[in-house]
Amino acid sequence: VNDRVWLNANLATLNGGEAFGAIADGALAVREGRIAWLGARSDLPAEWRSAEVSDAQGAWITPGLIDCHTHLVYAGNRAAEFGERLAGRSYAEIAAQGGGILATVRATRAADEETLFAASARRLETLAAEGVTTVEIKSGYGLELAAEAKMLRVARRLGERFGLRLRTSFLGAHALPPEFAHAREAYLDSLCEEMLPALAGAGLIDAVDAFCERIAFSAAETRRVFAAAVRFGLPVKLHADQLSDGGGAALAAEFKALSADHLEYANEAGIKAMARAGTVAVLLPGAFYFLREKQLPPIAALRAAGVPMAIATDANPGSSPCTSLLLMLNMACTLFGLTPQEALAGVTCHAARALGLGDQCGRLAVGLAADFVLWDIDSPIDLVYAMGANPCRQIVIAGSPAPSPQAGEGSFERRFATHAMAKRP
Ligand SMILES: [Zn+2]
Repeated sequence: VNDRVWLNANLATLNGGEAFGAIADGALAVREGRIAWLGARSDLPAEWRSAEVSDAQGAWITPGLIDCHTHLVYAGNRAAEFGERLAGRSYAEIAAQGGGILATVRATRAADEETLFAASARRLETLAAEGVTTVEIKSGYGLELAAEAKMLRVARRLGERFGLRLRTSFLGAHALPPEFAHAREAYLDSLCEEMLPALAGAGLIDAVDAFCERIAFSAAETRRVFAAAVRFGLPVKLHADQLSDGGGAALAAEFKALSADHLEYANEAGIKAMARAGTVAVLLPGAFYFLREKQLPPIAALRAAGVPMAIATDANPGSSPCTSLLLMLNMACTLFGLTPQEALAGVTCHAARALGLGDQCGRLAVGLAADFVLWDIDSPIDLVYAMGANPCRQIVIAGSPAPSPQAGEGSFERRFATHAMAKRP
């Protein structure tokens, strides 16, 4: 692969500072899949004058977007349950009666691997078309070794097929499976002593996640799962304080979690502990919106404590059937009161940190992966402002231009196949 330089572009570097870290009339040079130089075009060093040139035609370039919290791999859907909730039943009520997560567990266990892959690929295609170059996918609808392994293999294969940077999280502590309904300890034994060792040994896990909530797992149970993760050298993440204050933020910080996610009911002490531990707050406005929650996450306290805030889709069939990260940018501002700059940082540099990838992607900076997106916009605020638009012109991953997601012809396999073969740094 030859050296290549993008000219005639405005760069939103997201390297801290004001105004998206913007560089007007910039140049961005790529060598061996990484960003090798960037700055004002007039400062481009002579050595790059002989590189192949891509004319960005005035586009804005941002880092590739990062969706750092999804449950994208699942079978079936829960449209009927959505109808029930609209008729007045609560999420907790539905979950207590075998609906909710357990309905998706039944469908996901029953699906063969190819069916699961095809259904998930359709969702990922929509998500990726909005300039997403890194995605996290959680397990947690298998809740038994074979089905959890199936989900995680599908996630890995999706990453390869789409040429995306893909991180997996093992979420065995998502719900108590029905066969262990009266044997919580036995399920945790199986999770910590059977599933986790086998899945980690097979290289299927990048992090361990848990759902710490009254309708899921207690703080003590979560602590046990995290202790097992530590034994395997795996970082942890936590679904924390979404529906009630269960001390999740402090628990995540205690284990130096990469992130604590949701956080609507997180308390002040927990937030301060997150700041000290370097734990990222992942905000999920899609679930807040879809569940019609009233309790806002403590944005002002997170800001005051200096906790980095990421934003993700939480793509899942029950509480956030959403495959648009751009829509989440808008919702993070309209519902949660983030500034456009905070929102964009939330799907780039801070999302990278939430996945332990802060030194690899999420900013336009020398040495980082050349994962970036060309947008047909007048200002980066346009990405946050418009609802339902997709101004993505081109996606570049590891320095290789991907086919336009707007081409509208052929299956995702044809559109992404060439690109998926590009070597990753
Ligand atoms: Zn989630």
